[in-house]
Formats: sequence, C-alpha cells, structure tokens
Amino acid sequence: MKMKKAVLQGPGQVEVVEMDVPQCPDGGVVVKLEACAVCGTDVENYLHGQRMSQLPPDLGHELTGVVSEVGDGNQHFRVGDRVALNQSVPCGECTDCENGYENLCDHTTRVGGGFGEYISIPALAVQSGNLLKMPGELSFRAGTHAEALAAVVNSHELIDVKLGDTVLVIGAGAVGCLHCQLAKAEGASRVILSDINAERLDLIKELSEADLIINSSTEDLEARIKEETFGQGVGKVIVACSSGVAQEQALRVVAKRGTVSMFGFTHKEWPWIKFDSNDCHYREFFVTGAFAYSRKQFKMALDLLARGAVKTEELNTHVFPLDRVIEAMETMKQGAGLKVLVVP
Ligand SMILES: [Zn+2]
Ligand SMILES: [Zn+2]
Repeated sequence: MKMKKAVLQGPGQVEVVEMDVPQCPDGGVVVKLEACAVCGTDVENYLHGQRMSQLPPDLGHELTGVVSEVGDGNQHFRVGDRVALNQSVPCGECTDCENGYENLCDHTTRVGGGFGEYISIPALAVQSGNLLKMPGELSFRAGTHAEALAAVVNSHELIDVKLGDTVLVIGAGAVGCLHCQLAKAEGASRVILSDINAERLDLIKELSEADLIINSSTEDLEARIKEETFGQGVGKVIVACSSGVAQEQALRVVAKRGTVSMFGFTHKEWPWIKFDSNDCHYREFFVTGAFAYSRKQFKMALDLLARGAVKTEELNTHVFPLDRVIEAMETMKQGAGLKVLVVP
C-alpha cells in the first residue's frame, strides 16, 4: 500500500513524496495519522536542515492518530486505539534518568515523521510508554497540544505555581496562552500576560483567561508591574518567548524571593543577557530553566486537555492539508498563526 509523506530534502526544501506504508515493527505499531502540529523545532529543521542530534529524525512529532496495525508481541495496543505520541524516549540508564530528570537525558531517542498518512512506532517507544491512548473524548487536534502543555507543566512544577500566586507570563503565543490557563487551573489569583505584539494579545485575550493584559510596546512593563503590585513585583514570572529583552525584564520585575522560569530559549549565536547581580543579591530571587518534560508530565498534559482544564480549540488558527505542508512551515516561521496543524 502507498502513502504520502512530507520529506525534508535540505534547508528550505520539503517535498511530499509517495512511498510504501511502513512495515509494522515487531512489538511496535503502525498509526494512521489524524493530525500533526508544526513545532518550533520543525521550523528549525525546515530552515537549516537537520544539524542538531537533539532534533527529531523526521519532520512532525506532535501527532495523534489511530492504530492501524499491531506488531507481533505487542500486548499494549489494538487496531482502532486512538493514540498520541510522546516523541522523547529517555535512555533510562544514565545518571540523569536515574535521578528522575529524564527530560534532561542526553541519550534520548526521538520518534518523528508525523507529516504523512502513516507512521511506524518502534517497540522501544511502545515499551517505554511513549505512545499513549487518548483519554476520554479528547479530539485528535486538541491532542496535538500535549507536548507543549507537558513542557508548560514542567515549568510550573519547577517554580511551584500555586493557590493565590500572582503570575506574569511574557509572550502571547500558543504556549503563553497555555501558561496562563494552567496557572489559573492551579489556583493563581492573578495572571498577567504581556507581549509587544498587540495582534497576538488580542487573539488570545479571552482564551488565556488573563486578568490583566499589558502591551509592552506601548507601555513600560516595569513601571506598570510596579504600579499593579504596589512596588512588590511579581512572585512567579514565566518568559514564554525567545527574547533576551523579555528575560532581562523578567529579572527586573520579579518580587523578592520570587522565581523566574526561563521557558523560552534565545538566539543560539547570542544567548547572553545582562542583569544587575546586586539586585539578585539583595532581593534573593531565583532563576530556573525549563526544558522538555517527563513521561509523567506528558500523561498529565493529555488528562488536563481531556478534562477541559486547558482549552486549545481556538489556538489552532491554521489547518493545512498535507500537500500544503510548506505553507504550514512558512506560516509558523512568520509567526502568523498561534498553532499550525497539518492533516493528511
Ligand atoms: Zn515539539
Ligand atoms: Zn538517560
């Protein structure tokens, strides 16, 4: 049987080609794809070709679908199961894995190839619990948000967002919106969302459930935060964008003993930022990164989506058929959409 699949041929070159439906691996499954979201790493790969071993081996990994074939010796799945993929399979043997930081494992195996009609999932991914049955009535399109939400859950666990917190999220993209909604679900009493882009702020205004929106291109973010918090600053600050300027702002508006989550990465060639170390000394604030997610956090994300604790429908601003996968990449690259999906 033949199928169509988007294949990366080189920097900026993606071709939809016809090929055989993959054979079902022993212990693995073949999944008939229903939806796959374009991730930031897909755009990186699309623009530069695959140059980092950290990146998935094939375009498209935020995927959902239906099991169409089950390999010999696989007791976990049946044909017809609705599934979502967690692309990162930790090695399970290194010190980081042993310490429970599987998201930081340097020997992660990644599964990809979601921009197509079928994908084969190896036994390793099935055995390690990286292919999950979708809970309840969760739709295929909503399920593609599990990866982003899992990373958001990781960030919130690290900075311990909880009842009564004031949380500032800088960056009004799809993940910024997930950060706001999750903070609300966790009981934060006040969620503030800021961005320099008025259009994006408008797009997610309602869905984010934010109590206060600050357009930091027309307003001085620091001054406004000071005013809003009676000079105290914000207890939990999340930088949900790839901007050194935003990171520097975060370090200035965080409260005494507060925490900053560096959720977004910055430019590879220029990752440096400036901050006043005395300010850190006197105010005793904390700074932490947030990278990827554990299998437990991925599962939690799927459950949160299924229960409607976090809503994503309006985040899917663009849905492209497989034949137009390049447009999907370009839309994401230009930042024109919040979440861009490709459907076979
Ligand atoms: Zn991704
Ligand atoms: Zn490991």
